[in-house]
Amino acid sequence: MAEETDYYKILGVERTASADEIKKAYRKFAMKYHPDRNPGDKKAEEMFKKGSEAYEVLSDPAKRQRYDQFGPDGVKSQFGPGGFDFDRDFTHGADLSDIFSQLFGGMGGGSRRRGGGSFFDLFGMGGGGREENPNGPEDGADLRYDLEIDLEEALFGATKSLDIPNEKECPDCHGTGAAAGTRRETCRQCGGSGYVTARQAFFQVRQPCPVCRGEGTIIRTPCRTCSGTGRVKDHAGLSLHIPPGVETGTHLRVAGRGEGGVRGGHPGDLHVVVHVRESDLFERNGDTLVVTAPVEPDVAALGGDVEVPTIDGVAKLRLAPGTPDGKVFRLRGKGCPLMNGRGNGDLLVRVQVEVPAYLSSKQKKALEAFREAREEKSYPQSRVYRDRMASFLKARDALGKR
Ligand SMILES: [Zn+2]
Ligand SMILES: [Zn+2]
Repeated sequence: MAEETDYYKILGVERTASADEIKKAYRKFAMKYHPDRNPGDKKAEEMFKKGSEAYEVLSDPAKRQRYDQFGPDGVKSQFGPGGFDFDRDFTHGADLSDIFSQLFGGMGGGSRRRGGGSFFDLFGMGGGGREENPNGPEDGADLRYDLEIDLEEALFGATKSLDIPNEKECPDCHGTGAAAGTRRETCRQCGGSGYVTARQAFFQVRQPCPVCRGEGTIIRTPCRTCSGTGRVKDHAGLSLHIPPGVETGTHLRVAGRGEGGVRGGHPGDLHVVVHVRESDLFERNGDTLVVTAPVEPDVAALGGDVEVPTIDGVAKLRLAPGTPDGKVFRLRGKGCPLMNGRGNGDLLVRVQVEVPAYLSSKQKKALEAFREAREEKSYPQSRVYRDRMASFLKARDALGKR
């Protein structure tokens, strides 16, 4: 057998070595050739790959047997046409020393992590969830509550009574889920750890126990009140103060008012997400309010006052004679309150000249007299318009369109 594929030789063990001896040998080997300990050393990296390949095979009794019987070809097919795909899985972007501290318990000074540590993250398995004591306190989840309010409530602040569908610890079983007089029993499948060990690639991985679903305990007689969940439905009344200046998307966090914890766990938080209804008077753009004010044509032409709604009540806006349609006035500090309490945004007033929808005979006569007295210079925009139209038509004729 060629030396480079003699897994026993690579690890420096006898062919009769026990599983424990192989593990110890690999640990020693890894200490020596680990890329973290030999940065930039291609030879060491090459050796490390070979050793890891050797350990992958020799640490698995079935593979070791095939290897002993058929040599490297007996196990190579396992890894597909590319052979042992070490690079992809283990040497790029992974904290290798951490993998080894997981494998061997504390090598390199790293302490063994709880579920959810980098060992699981490395494989994209996402540990998370329950930790070492599945029967210990369990914190409640954060809850989201979507609250619709009117613009007025957003501008001036309000106090809202919320009825929040919630869950709390079951009063009959105190969150254990087991019927009165019984208790949760340790899961026999996993011995109460909540995890079972499976092999994946060449590491052992812990997976949540399928029998107890990671809880570590099972309930033989579920509590009737909560059907064994440990939680019951609850409606929590809450008086929520909405500060002036909130807008759609504002999150108001109410600490400790989320789902209740069980077995002494902390409650989650309540996140109220504000949605401000559209107003039919104001448009809102951040802290700026915009209002469109219809203005009578004579007021726009002669000048005069227009009443404007502001957060401080009615304001009078004085229009100069000849105010055009669409003109926008800015009233500083009359818009939305700022959330930080430091003043207000602006109010924009857009003038909209309103053509009379109805004319009395007296008005009609007056307007006809007005038309009689028409002067060209009264309407500069009309003059510009006629000039542009004339030049367009001239160009059209020049280009042969008749
Ligand atoms: Zn279990
Ligand atoms: Zn219960």
